[in-house]
Amino acid sequence: MSVLVYIEHAEGSVKKTSLEAVSYGKALSEKLSAGEVIAVALGRLDSGELANVGQAGADKVIHVDDEKLNAGVIQAHAEAVAKVYQQSGSSTLVLAKSSMGDAVAARLAVKLGAALVSNVVDLPDTSNGYKVKRSIYTGKAFAETSVNKEHKILAVKKNAVDLKMNGSAAPVEKVDLDIAPANFVTEITSTDKATGEVLLPEADIVVSGGRGMKGPENWNLIEDLAKELGAGTGCSKPVSDIGWRPHHEHVGQTGVKVAPSLYVAVGISGAIQHLAGVNSSKCIVVINKDAEAPFFKAADYGIVGDAFEVLPKLTEAVKAL
Ligand code: FAD
Repeated sequence: MSVLVYIEHAEGSVKKTSLEAVSYGKALSEKLSAGEVIAVALGRLDSGELANVGQAGADKVIHVDDEKLNAGVIQAHAEAVAKVYQQSGSSTLVLAKSSMGDAVAARLAVKLGAALVSNVVDLPDTSNGYKVKRSIYTGKAFAETSVNKEHKILAVKKNAVDLKMNGSAAPVEKVDLDIAPANFVTEITSTDKATGEVLLPEADIVVSGGRGMKGPENWNLIEDLAKELGAGTGCSKPVSDIGWRPHHEHVGQTGVKVAPSLYVAVGISGAIQHLAGVNSSKCIVVINKDAEAPFFKAADYGIVGDAFEVLPKLTEAVKAL
């Protein structure tokens, strides 16, 4: 028996959400005495980086070192993971809830005849059956899903797991797989980075601005703070609608949903549609000159003040750390 964990990576690094999935896999295996935790990584990646997955709890890493898989074609990834899963004799596949994770998991559920539970926030309760707690309604409530299939796929919500990097380097085993050419239906010929250094959906810290920033000419204040914090930048919907910022920075119900460790909202009122995209953040800091702004109710920390005075001081204070 074993637990298989699907690893995502970008720009030469394993994603933090995948390390969280490995930590979850380790805790699951310990709870259910489910044997080894095997991570599977697809595409070209440095072996040293992969060995680090052991620190998050993997006993070994299976590396399908085929450069074609770096393009992230979903069908090819689903076929590769299904093959490794069948060879590993696992009965549970764990992965991170993400756009790629969702797409791969759905195909794997069909291929493997497995039950898929997404947005998982806790280890299963096996005292009476196999019940999995998951987050619903954009983090506002929890549901318990009973699973009665032998094969299970659990997609773990970002930040739901305490990432423990206290294991040791894992052995990396390279494996060749024969993936049907028809599964490489998409060929990526070039990629352009949309903006900034940190991609918004992956960002561990996000600094977001709203209409309170008054105009695009003031966004250097948001960007300066983001740079000091190593953060991605986001905005409210009207800000991208007016064209102050690009649409892919729009956070909320109809935009990107983020779950960073820290979300800093500047000059954003905190409408329910904006909160729907940020309420899985671990810590929310709100800067608004109106003490009655609804965002303060969702905030862990709040600064009532003018963004044009507060932001430069905050940036200087972070710089001085
Ligand atoms: P405002 O509501 O105008 O708020 C500006 C805030 O800035 C105020 O709180 C004000 O006190 C503060 N402020 C002003 N000056 C300063 C200053 N100098 N210093 C500090 N604070 C200052 N919105 C989203 O963001 N994301 C979505 O996905 C989204 N989806 C929607 C879907 C639907 C179907 C609908 C109907 C709406 C949606 N909206 C969405 C819009 C949402 O309802 C709000 O209108 C929007 O979030 C408000 O944006 P804002 O907070 O930037 O602007």
